[in-house]
Amino acid sequence: GDGCYNPPAAPASVIMLGDSGVGKTSLLIRFRDGRYVPSYFLSTVGIDFRNKVVVVDGTRVKLQIWDTAGQERFRSVTHAYYRDAHALLLLYDVTNKTTYDNIRAWLGEIREYAQEDVVIVLIGNKADCSGSERQVKREDGERLGREHNVPFMETSAKTGLNVELSFTAVARQLKSRGYEHGDDGKFNVHDFVRDNTKARSVCAQCRNM
Ligand code: GDP
Ligand code: MG
Repeated sequence: GDGCYNPPAAPASVIMLGDSGVGKTSLLIRFRDGRYVPSYFLSTVGIDFRNKVVVVDGTRVKLQIWDTAGQERFRSVTHAYYRDAHALLLLYDVTNKTTYDNIRAWLGEIREYAQEDVVIVLIGNKADCSGSERQVKREDGERLGREHNVPFMETSAKTGLNVELSFTAVARQLKSRGYEHGDDGKFNVHDFVRDNTKARSVCAQCRNM
């Protein structure tokens, strides 16, 4: 509400999820640096998280984006990781049908351990690959997204296709859930806390008013 200006801003926690090799690290590096990292270099990058501010319709939404590595097998991403997440980028690889089939299992994990109102965006990565390389059609991704009521888009970390758009989609949904209240141009995002009784996210300051 009005008069709520309580820095410092707490960033929204965003987690990259999906099977090993789908391009989580590549997508995050493309988003952060605007470049595509050769695969021989990827294993040595060792990203934990990156902060990035995304502007949505003039509103600044601060994201803290966590990469997962070596945790891609089910039941190995810790429950605390899920619980604290405000948003999830869930990736499969359009050249690998298994990673697409596994999305249902990932969504099962998410429904079980993440907050009920967690923002999810479904991504079919490696959209630059075509012809016989491609195993999953765009329509299959669209259908899966519709089935689970989550936005879907294809991306390419290699060409940059829809990379900004996918993170903006996350920020847009966070904003629509009340993540950011300020409109005076200052960085005045509220501390973002969970109100589990209402199963939705509210600003601590506003809740107490
Ligand atoms: P992660 O295990 O999910 O983090 O996946 P990586 O980011 O390590 O990528 C796995 C492999 O896929 C690497 O060889 C990347 O170069 C490759 N890769 C990632 N994104 C793309 C993409 O958009 N297009 C293509 N053609 N290859 C990609
Ligand atoms: Mg990785």
